[in-house]
Amino acid sequence: MTASLAPRIDTRALQQADAEHFLHPFTDFQSLAAKGSRIITRGDNIYVWDSEGHRILDGMSGLWCMNVGYGRGELADVAAKQMRELAFYNSFFQTATVPAIELGQLLTEVTPPQFKHVFFTCSGSEGNDTVLRMVRRYWDLMGQPRRKTFISRKNAYHGSTVAGASLGGMSYMHAQGDLPIPGIVHIEQPYYFEHGRGMSPDEFGLQAARWLEQKILEVGPDTVAAFIGEPIQGAGGVIIPPATYWPEVQRICDQYGILLVSDEVICGFGRTGNWFGCETMGFKPDLMTFAKGVTSGYIPLGGVMVGDRVAQVLIDKGGEFEHGFTYSGHPVACAVAIENIRILQREKLVERVAHETGPYLNRRFTELLDHPLVGVAESKGLMAGLILMKDKSAKELFDTKLEVGMVCRRHCFEGGVIMRAVGDRMIIAPPLVMTVAQIDEMIGLIRASLDRTLDELRQRGWL
Ligand code: PMP
Repeated sequence: MTASLAPRIDTRALQQADAEHFLHPFTDFQSLAAKGSRIITRGDNIYVWDSEGHRILDGMSGLWCMNVGYGRGELADVAAKQMRELAFYNSFFQTATVPAIELGQLLTEVTPPQFKHVFFTCSGSEGNDTVLRMVRRYWDLMGQPRRKTFISRKNAYHGSTVAGASLGGMSYMHAQGDLPIPGIVHIEQPYYFEHGRGMSPDEFGLQAARWLEQKILEVGPDTVAAFIGEPIQGAGGVIIPPATYWPEVQRICDQYGILLVSDEVICGFGRTGNWFGCETMGFKPDLMTFAKGVTSGYIPLGGVMVGDRVAQVLIDKGGEFEHGFTYSGHPVACAVAIENIRILQREKLVERVAHETGPYLNRRFTELLDHPLVGVAESKGLMAGLILMKDKSAKELFDTKLEVGMVCRRHCFEGGVIMRAVGDRMIIAPPLVMTVAQIDEMIGLIRASLDRTLDELRQRGWL
């Protein structure tokens, strides 16, 4: 179907109704109302179309989730079939549904061997809330109730519920709603560009991990419950830690007996070239939060993989765990997740990211370093980030008030490719179905957008 055959949509009327009634997440309501939303009406493979018929290459997979690409009839079919058969039944009162049981089994096949149990939620935020409650329960059951504190990182993203936002390290989120809640502390992120000058990446990775040890000693080792981190920080700007970081974090957690939690909401289900980011970054978590890629965003589903160390204690000594959601293990979501995982397996998408598209994206993306605006460009699997710089030879950044990243983001959108701006870090995480030829197309669109950004910055006298 071409854009011209799409049903006519009254964009202005929709924008007006949107502005009048819909409070968007993470949005300045007033300024969006003045501008009007871009209304996305259709998706196919790695492309979306807006209500004016523009085709846009979705370099962000929706919101890091559309891993098997848009328009997969297989997923629509299993959802419809499950809805007709059994649209919902709960799992609170000693009942279960077939898709939830089968997905639990399948998840233990694709996750690392320490995981044989899953707790279902509807989102990544709820997954991290579950982690907080489950970990504290675990330490109570272990007879160490003083172990309450979670250590996380600044500029981490772990969701937007009270616990999720507190575990996250976004100061602008903490500033609203009196967060973080007590018992959550943050250390610096392993961001080489920001903190690593004068060190090799490997030296810096070790130093960044030791910030964890310092914090453990500062708050008291017998009060620390867990360390939580994204293998590669996503919303923080695709921050890829040096190879030495996670193994050293693991060593420190082991030394102090602290639980290690991997937030795999973005990195899970193939994004980094392994099924889970912890496998790529070389560590063995006790718990893993997941969401997004488990259903490729076709329907909300999240959860926590619970490793043997924790699961065994909850099962053997726990009694009733007073936690759960109406839609924990929703049969339609679980049926979609099963088919989504089967697609990843059938089409060997994880292997493709590891051996073909990931390395190819790395080569093409780092070529952007020859652009006058690009001072750093890096990637892992199918996630990548670059830094826009005022003077790349001196590694001089733009004044943050200029919001140069947003200028670039606008040029990308107008030029037909979606990149996200995190400050002046421009990031992508395209669908895992992306082909080598589509990577070429995406890089061409990004380069053209960078050129137009450069022109605008020159015209404005910002360079
Ligand atoms: N953890 C990470 C690493 C995430 O990236 C996100 C969402 N971007 C979340 C948790 C929260 O997930 P949700 O928005 O589904 O609650």
